[in-house]
Amino acid sequence: EATMRLHVLVARLGTRFVLVLAEDRTEAHRLDEVRRDFVANISHELKTPIASVSLLAEALEMAADEPVQVRRFASRLSTEATRLAHITSEVIELSRLQARDALRPDVLVSIDEVVAEAVDQNRIVAAAKRVEVAVRVAPGARVYGDRALMIVAVHNLVANAIAYSNEGGRVGVGVKVDDHTVEIAVTDQGIGIEGEDLDRVFERFFRVDQARSRNTGGSGLGLSIVKHTVQNHGGDVRVWSQPGRGSTFMIRLPLADSVSPSAPAGGGER
Ligand code: ADP
Repeated sequence: EATMRLHVLVARLGTRFVLVLAEDRTEAHRLDEVRRDFVANISHELKTPIASVSLLAEALEMAADEPVQVRRFASRLSTEATRLAHITSEVIELSRLQARDALRPDVLVSIDEVVAEAVDQNRIVAAAKRVEVAVRVAPGARVYGDRALMIVAVHNLVANAIAYSNEGGRVGVGVKVDDHTVEIAVTDQGIGIEGEDLDRVFERFFRVDQARSRNTGGSGLGLSIVKHTVQNHGGDVRVWSQPGRGSTFMIRLPLADSVSPSAPAGGGER
């Protein structure tokens, strides 16, 4: 819920004094709000798996004499623990990204390698779902940046494309290069995203249809991490989607050959 501070000011208008209600919308105040929301969201997201873990531990204790039950509860316990670990590491990653000013990277990163690595990391999940991942790369693009962060960003897009594809679907990863920019597009033919949700998918913890998304075991932080990483590199990320047809997420980054290494890579919105 948005809070708004009202200030009562006394202003002088000609010879008369009038009362003015002024809205406090300073940047500091806005950031404060964002931080409060973030903490509230984290607490909320962590509460459910933590509650599950303690319930399952209790159930495990009570079922001690029944091996089949024990195995079932233990396996669910381990799933919830993995989920907790996943959310925690994403939260840490995201706060690190947000705390960082725009990167002034001087390390050359090969986009070919980033894409190949990100796709490789998703091979097993794709195979399990019989999703074909086709890669078409215009080779040779290089950007200044943080290789590991970039891999995470592309990985998140590919992982989503697979997660929100149907069994046997097709995911395309394409890299295009022009004079100043490299574009990395990840396209799927999956469930797509409704127009009203499209603007919000990059928000922290936002998940379309909580119940449905929960099946994928995500946290709603993946795209937020993509957005902050790309912005810290002076680029942007956009999405096009048609419900029932599929989605395309596109990262754009300034090519190394068109920026000088010492130039700031553009300020990111926090
Ligand atoms: P999550 O961990 O839930 O996947 P993300 O931040 O990566 O979190 O994505 C936020 C939400 O955006 C997802 O829960 C999902 O509803 C939607 N979304 C992301 N990528 C896709 C996609 N390729 N197709 C359809 N919906 C998507």
